[in-house]
Amino acid sequence: CGIVGYTGERGTVDVLLEGLSRLEYRGYDSAGVSVIDGDHIALRKKGGKLAVLRASLEDAPLPASATGIGHTRWATHGGPTDENAHPHVGDDGRLSLIHNGIIENFAELRAELEAAGEAFASETDTEAAAKLLGRAYRETGDLTAAMRQVVGRLHGQFTLLAMHAEQPGVVVGASHNSPLLVGYGEGEHFLGSDVSAFVKFTPNAAALDNDQIVTITRDSASVTDFDGNAVEPKRFEVSWDASA
Ligand code: GLU
Repeated sequence: CGIVGYTGERGTVDVLLEGLSRLEYRGYDSAGVSVIDGDHIALRKKGGKLAVLRASLEDAPLPASATGIGHTRWATHGGPTDENAHPHVGDDGRLSLIHNGIIENFAELRAELEAAGEAFASETDTEAAAKLLGRAYRETGDLTAAMRQVVGRLHGQFTLLAMHAEQPGVVVGASHNSPLLVGYGEGEHFLGSDVSAFVKFTPNAAALDNDQIVTITRDSASVTDFDGNAVEPKRFEVSWDASA
């Protein structure tokens, strides 16, 4: 339902929680965040309100990290439990992924992935994309290339964000019939399902067109179409009153 991604020098978890609280107005039933922690993903996700996730993070904080993703979920496949909340992991806990929308062919994908030895921890459509992306990453060694491979196998509508511990300063996003925006900062970049996810931090934004992939690092945001052709997104400035 609500999506935020960040890489930069601020407190990543605080940036993600700020973004998620600005997206609360959309409605949701669960929330979660993940950051890169050395060679794996550190993750916290909870059914219920953002306050439940916040309290859990206050009790036991996630490690400081330059890269993270956060999600508020409006369940379509599987109840609003902790396990079904996003992020979902792939590649043995080295990758995490969040998703807005619906993956219509998830049951076929899940059967194929289970037959190949993947173990699922949730009832969501989303987890099939996380496991598929993990396998594509092992094949390609590059998260953007892996994302390009995976979007060709998904039917439905989606905004996806993912990160991999082997590429610690990188968040990759993809959108198909579902919104995704980039926020441009100095030495930091943001992704969001809506400008309110990052407007507190930067007014400089661009909206992806349909069927595009974006890769952010601290210093760059590059966009391609699903075939890998570079595109220059149209940038705009969010009016100041939206950031109040
Ligand atoms: N279909 C996904 C799920 O049920 C994502 C729902 C959403 O957009 O929040 O987990």
